[in-house]
Amino acid sequence: MTSLRSRKLAVMGFRSVGKSSLSIQFVEGQFVDSYDPTIENTFHTKIKHKGQDYTIDLVDTAGQDEYSIMPQSYCVDNHGYILVYSVTSRKSFDVVMDIRERLLDLTGQQTLPILLVGNKTDLHMERVVSSEEGSILAKKWKAGFLESSAKENKTVQLVFHTIIDEIEKLQNGTTPN
Ligand code: GDP
Ligand code: MG
Repeated sequence: MTSLRSRKLAVMGFRSVGKSSLSIQFVEGQFVDSYDPTIENTFHTKIKHKGQDYTIDLVDTAGQDEYSIMPQSYCVDNHGYILVYSVTSRKSFDVVMDIRERLLDLTGQQTLPILLVGNKTDLHMERVVSSEEGSILAKKWKAGFLESSAKENKTVQLVFHTIIDEIEKLQNGTTPN
């Protein structure tokens, strides 16, 4: 018999990278063109992943920069972190590095279940961060990496399935509920 597992995920990253758009696309299956950037929202949903049912609490954070204070709650409550940058913003790529450093500091861990996501791949002409750069950074972190478009609903479901895998990987087969 398989039991229901619950996973709490935080979506973090610089402002305007598409954290809310990815979250809403995942949970509601629609692209919302303008969403209050200052709101922090928790979405609740369920998914089946590899035959296992999960309840997901998804914290769509209001966004971080190198100066923002990182609430302790981000570090104690979460099973996994989706760190989002926009492939059209070099600054947002720098900010995810900063966020990860601070998460490691606050948790005292050397690795955390992280999925690095480069969003807005539909904006081909505006791309400034290459796929290769994203992939190299994630390898360095021993984290997962995906590129997505919340607008075109590309890879959005996969993002949330992959972070579950990253969490299971780090739990090293102990599979607590
Ligand atoms: P957040 O501040 O990180 O939550 O970003 P939002 O989800 O509010 O998105 C910021 C802006 O980028 C909005 O105008 C979105 O419509 C737009 N946006 C988000 N994701 C994408 C995407 O994949 N492609 C494009 N072209 N625009 C996007
Ligand atoms: Mg938002």
